[in-house]
Amino acid sequence: MEETRSFGYICPHCGKSVVGRRSRFALLAAAANIECECGKSAMQVETDGEKFRFWVPCGFCGDAHQGECDAASVFEGAGIGLSCPKTKQFCAYVGDNRRVESAIKELEILTEKEKEQGDDAFADNLVMYEVLSEIRDIAARQGISCSCGSRDYAIEVRHAAVDLVCKKCGGKLRVPAATDEDLDSLCCQMKLQIKGQ
Ligand SMILES: [Zn+2]
Ligand SMILES: [Zn+2]
Ligand SMILES: [Zn+2]
Repeated sequence: MEETRSFGYICPHCGKSVVGRRSRFALLAAAANIECECGKSAMQVETDGEKFRFWVPCGFCGDAHQGECDAASVFEGAGIGLSCPKTKQFCAYVGDNRRVESAIKELEILTEKEKEQGDDAFADNLVMYEVLSEIRDIAARQGISCSCGSRDYAIEVRHAAVDLVCKKCGGKLRVPAATDEDLDSLCCQMKLQIKGQ
């Protein structure tokens, strides 16, 4: 089977995450349209083999953004995030299937939270985003576990913290996510361990 790459964004109309996979062959053959199930938005992807161009409906500000990058950053490695010029938040991810899927799921949770709570959703939006992406990196290294032995956990996003909750025993680890210091202290940790019950 030919290797595929993923393209994901948050639909500004229904707030759902949209992820589409395309093979290199399909991408080189024709422009791709990654459509939301609701039919009201679509991300367009186009390449000439050297550069990629994107038109992304933005789930944060509601506009559509245009982006460009090298074909290599789409076809190789982990991939890239496209950010919204107005809110400075990532609004789309492109690249490795697993990474794009988990990053987009996270974005979906965040946008839902923001809608529920308005502008005050988080103590500091940027710190929250950075903390979540740091947690994702630690998770990618298999660095998150519970002292009960389980590696299965849920992420609960709070106003000024992220809770990692063990799905087996219910143990909880609170990761503060309000200040730059919170972020700094998380960045030097290779592993996170939930205290089991
Ligand atoms: Zn939609
Ligand atoms: Zn935007
Ligand atoms: Zn546990």
